[in-house]
Amino acid sequence: MKISKSPWVLHYDGSSCNGCDIEVLATMTPLYDVERFGIINTGNPKHADILLLTGGINAQTAPVVRQLYNQMPDPKVVIACGICSCDGGIFKECYNILGGSDKVVPVDVYVPGCAVRPEALIDGVVKALAILEEKRVKVKESMKQGYCTVDYSKIAVRMKAEDYDPATQYDAVLTEEALREQAEAKIAQTSKTAPKPAAPVAAPKKDEGGNA
Ligand code: SF4
Repeated sequence: MKISKSPWVLHYDGSSCNGCDIEVLATMTPLYDVERFGIINTGNPKHADILLLTGGINAQTAPVVRQLYNQMPDPKVVIACGICSCDGGIFKECYNILGGSDKVVPVDVYVPGCAVRPEALIDGVVKALAILEEKRVKVKESMKQGYCTVDYSKIAVRMKAEDYDPATQYDAVLTEEALREQAEAKIAQTSKTAPKPAAPVAAPKKDEGGNA
């Protein structure tokens, strides 16, 4: 596989237990040392090619993830890292979890595991690089024809550059309003089914000798 530039990765924790985040950090330690392949961890979405997400998505992190994705230049790929990011994982039924990363952004590569292993993560990045190169070629071709390429959940849709509106690129995933409705419905359902706390019981009175 020919890579035309070093891939820069932006890591964001959607709401993980930090287990997967520690494994992401492990890939940068001397044992795995992904930087020797030119894979750089960046904090700026405008410099990033790959969005690496850990943890499930909740109502608070959904708009952040979406904004980060919007701020990244095309072509870009998204990796869901760990089973929580793939579909909500063990937190799926929690009142505040809306699901995996693909609820808010189109995911290109799913890397399962709990926590995800650094080897699996590196494998996922290699797969993402192949997709990134494919997208890069498509973007170049589209640009030559005066079009820009927008990724609608893994389906490249061509549209005229002047019609490009980042707010409309998520037809395949939930809108802000739908996300909020889903969160409210889940909270209402959980509060109905949650068992009532037991009534407090008074401590037995003690007699003068201190016996119960
Ligand atoms: S997949 Fe496992 S380790 Fe990773 S964030 Fe979820 S619970 Fe934590």
